[in-house]
Amino acid sequence: MKNILIAGAGTGGLAVGALLAKDGYNVTLYADCAPDTHGYNWEDSLNVRLIEEFTGVVLQEHEKGVLPNNRYFSPDEKTPIETDYGEKPPTKMERRLLSRLLIEYAASCGVQFVWHTKITGAVTENARVVGVTTDSAVLYADLVIDACGVDSAVRKSLPAECKIEQNYATGEVFYAYRGIYSKCQPTEADTNPYEIYLMHCGEPGISWLINEENSADILIGRFVPFDMQKVEQIVAQFKEKRPFVGTSLLRGGIFAKIPVRRPLVKMVCDGYAAIGDSAYMTYPMSGSGVDLNIRAAKLLHEAIRADEESVFTVQTLWPYQRNYILKHGASLTGVDILKNTLLNLKPAELDWLFANRIITEGDLGSAGSEVGSKEMLGKVMRGFPKLPTLLKVANAALGGDKVEKVYRSIPETYTDEAYDKWKAAVDKTIVPLKR
Ligand SMILES: Cc1cc2nc3c(=O)[nH]c(=O)nc-3n(C[C@H](O)[C@H](O)[C@H](O)COP(=O)(O)OP(=O)(O)OC[C@H]3O[C@@H](n4cnc5c(N)ncnc54)[C@H](O)[C@@H]3O)c2cc1C
Repeated sequence: MKNILIAGAGTGGLAVGALLAKDGYNVTLYADCAPDTHGYNWEDSLNVRLIEEFTGVVLQEHEKGVLPNNRYFSPDEKTPIETDYGEKPPTKMERRLLSRLLIEYAASCGVQFVWHTKITGAVTENARVVGVTTDSAVLYADLVIDACGVDSAVRKSLPAECKIEQNYATGEVFYAYRGIYSKCQPTEADTNPYEIYLMHCGEPGISWLINEENSADILIGRFVPFDMQKVEQIVAQFKEKRPFVGTSLLRGGIFAKIPVRRPLVKMVCDGYAAIGDSAYMTYPMSGSGVDLNIRAAKLLHEAIRADEESVFTVQTLWPYQRNYILKHGASLTGVDILKNTLLNLKPAELDWLFANRIITEGDLGSAGSEVGSKEMLGKVMRGFPKLPTLLKVANAALGGDKVEKVYRSIPETYTDEAYDKWKAAVDKTIVPLKR
């Protein structure tokens, strides 16, 4: 059986590794971390049922929960919009538990783990990836699956002939800080305790404050890096506004990056496939990636199984990329455009959209995964056609539908010519972040 090397212990890499090892491939996963500290030390929103089905482990009631309802604020914070998940709130669980379940499952399927190993780049021969380098060795494989995350050293070192984008632009990655703080006084029950501040402090990005039973969960996300001084300033602002926020850091307290953009336009080449954050597989509005990673793992597994000769070329891996774009990526590209358009607005323009309820509970409640661009466009055109702010949003909504069509015209089989033509069309649709 062929040797498959998984670079990094990303969620998608763990999942596809398990499926492939189960089929009998020799799968070895190298990661620079340790298994017991793998995963963020906090709870995240993800489809718990999907994880239970994937790993075959049924979680106990105390190991899973649901997200509370949101209250969204525009920059002036004067006219918040409350959303209600109703009967089906999104589920959540601890990231450390998710990591443990995936690692244990992959090991039980036969994945070999090599921890504490930093991968420094790809090894290529004639534009085919044939392995990776570490600090002290060259590791060869028939296929490298890149699960090293948003700053993957493997992806960043691929030669231009592989045609895989190495870097992201401003506005495509969120620089986030998350800390879970103590509470210094009890609070009244709140129907919408999950507060999200859009363009917080007038800056492109968001912050959130969740009033949990025993803690205050704070996230600060911006499109440019920031430091602890800024974190302290924002935590102090929250404390002033919501005096229950305490000063002791209970968990987290780290900076991390989140891709919030369309997926890689090309995520495969001879001997290589990217998955998870290394291929920017998240919902562009919310930055959630876990569910998409598990679904992508299944698609990559299918493509590899269908490659009967195990040649692992761009042609045999292409169905993975194509199916990912058709099933998930294409429908999210409109959201990406809408996101950038909203972020390109001035704070006062966003305040106006909130105050006049042009942006509504329904638009915000889908967390970006189901933004009804046509519905939004309809409201805008019907109600206030003369206002430039609305026209910008309307254009984005219209553009989103067009972009999705462009993505869906992805070639059925890979040739350089067909890909180049498709990519040229896709590139024309990008809306950069201007602020
Ligand atoms: C603050 C925050 C909140 C989030 N909230 C949610 C949420 O609520 N729901 C959700 O679904 N998603 C959420 N996400 C996103 C989610 O974490 C990712 O989309 C998802 O984990 C997929 O990323 P990944 O596993 O591919 O990459 P990563 O999580 O970056 O994992 C990469 C792995 O590769 C290893 N690695 C990296 N570089 C090297 C190297 N050079 N050599 C060897 N190993 C290497 C790392 O140690 C790590 O194990 C959040 C992210 C952040 C930062």
